[in-house]
Amino acid sequence: MTKVPWHFTVSDRKTISVSLLIMLLPLFIFLQMWAINDKQQKRLFASNTASDLIYDVEVMFDHLNGALINLSASFSACTTETVNQMYRYAFDIPGVEGFLIINEQRSVICSNWHPDQSIEVELPASFGLSLSKEHFLRSVGKNGFFAYRTGANGLTYIAVVSATHLRYLLNQRNIALTDALALLDNDEENPLSLSGLLSNTVLQQARLAFASDDKKTIVEIDDFSITLISSDQHPNLSVAYLYRTPTIMVTLSDHKTEIILLLVGQLFAFILWLTHRFKKLNSMKVQLTMAIDRQEFTPYLQPIVDINTQAWVGAEMLARWQRHGQDVAYPNEFIPLAEKHSLIKKITKQLAQKAFSFYQDHPELVSDFFLSINLSPNHIDEKTISSLHQLRKSYPSIQVSQIKLEITEQGLGTEKAQNTKQIIEQLRQMGCQVGLDDFGTGQSGLEYFTHLTFDFIKIDQRFVGAIGKTNVDFHLLKTIIQLAASLKLDVIAEGVETEQQAEWLAAQGVRYAQGWLYAKAMPLSEFKKNLIHKKAVTL
Ligand code: C2E
Ligand code: CA
Ligand code: CA
Repeated sequence: MTKVPWHFTVSDRKTISVSLLIMLLPLFIFLQMWAINDKQQKRLFASNTASDLIYDVEVMFDHLNGALINLSASFSACTTETVNQMYRYAFDIPGVEGFLIINEQRSVICSNWHPDQSIEVELPASFGLSLSKEHFLRSVGKNGFFAYRTGANGLTYIAVVSATHLRYLLNQRNIALTDALALLDNDEENPLSLSGLLSNTVLQQARLAFASDDKKTIVEIDDFSITLISSDQHPNLSVAYLYRTPTIMVTLSDHKTEIILLLVGQLFAFILWLTHRFKKLNSMKVQLTMAIDRQEFTPYLQPIVDINTQAWVGAEMLARWQRHGQDVAYPNEFIPLAEKHSLIKKITKQLAQKAFSFYQDHPELVSDFFLSINLSPNHIDEKTISSLHQLRKSYPSIQVSQIKLEITEQGLGTEKAQNTKQIIEQLRQMGCQVGLDDFGTGQSGLEYFTHLTFDFIKIDQRFVGAIGKTNVDFHLLKTIIQLAASLKLDVIAEGVETEQQAEWLAAQGVRYAQGWLYAKAMPLSEFKKNLIHKKAVTL
């Protein structure tokens, strides 16, 4: 079997598109990994963490608020009972250090905690729950907040909240080292509490982008993403989760193992696919079938001349395989295989269509030309007749008498050939001229002549090459010419390369010649140019 070069086998559309797919798939998976896994998961984590924190803070503030309302509702004077109540609340609510009640002059009038007589921090009157800035609580030597509300009697009820406790709530969230989590009071510039490193400029920009009526906002600033969630119950409170937006590079370094596995898998798939394709395409049958689909077979025409006038009177249609990006292949490379795989009929049909359409398109050049078509004898059947009918319908300007069919004698002598013989007879009745190709080179006897009539014989170049030599072929040639004359068959001599051969053949009464002396087989375009040129010369 003819070996087919590698680059041909992998250049078909299917191989290329699947290969491309195999190449692009990992990229696609990686982008998914980055966009869906990393980006979305991070976003989800950020918003879950922020919501959880808001929830915890809300719960704590609810308790505080409840305690302050209760204190204000029951307060009339600072009794032991009041102070005990304060102790109980401080004990029950995590993060609360103690309680204070101050009057309008900011003097402490009741407390379970503050030993001072007055407080310095500004606490603008608020009938809802308000928060002070974080500040240094001198008496206990650490930072804290005041959560407070003003009662109807002008007294302010304060819960002292430890800053450490808020930080503890934040730190519990287990955020990545490079992320930051902040509890914000929307009126304050600095966060109430912070875990991780949060650049102030980034935070400021995020605040600007933060639309206050949205409960949840996601802002992207430079390399950062910030998820902001504000509290339902305390509209001033919000939580910001800040992280570096996962870049492709981050995903690359985070998923090294997966990516390596992906690439190895890709290579593996690629090799598997190419080996599979190579095996498949290396089969000549597949290659020929693909070539037929791609219309790669084209007819070359070699002129057949009147041996006396040298005028072109017809042409033999010879198959060429114009493979994509490669040299033209000659029939001996593929015709035997096409016959073996029963693809020869399709090829002949493709060639004939192209040659017929050339004849039809150039009546001024070839209207009186015959076209000689090679038919493989093993593939002559009823379909040959119907194909011919089809061609006649498609190319009505071509006469059946213009068609010559060249059939080799191989197989004609066998019993099986009965059907072939009948078809040949039908073809002749339709008006085609049928001739024997390579006459004399076959091993079969000549008995088929007794029940088959032919119109012409073609003498193979082997005999023409023997002209003037003293060998068996030359004797055979003379015998063949005599036989043809006695059977009144036209003779076409093939492979005429020299003037001497032509002269000798003409002297023997041979009517037609074909060979490099006149012209080689050529593509249709070249054939056309030659004919135009000849016309111009004769005019
Ligand atoms: P063939 O039918 O005997 O065709 C003649 C071959 O001799 C052609 O070779 C032609 O190019 C070559 N030839 C013509 N003049 C000369 C010359 O002066 N000197 C030399 N040395 N060679 C010359 P090609 O085209 O390679 O075809 C080879 C064979 O392939 C053909 O032999 C024919 O048997 C087969 N073939 C070609 N086309 C078809 C086709 O469409 N169908 C079938 N079934 N067989 C085909
Ligand atoms: Ca031939
Ligand atoms: Ca021949």
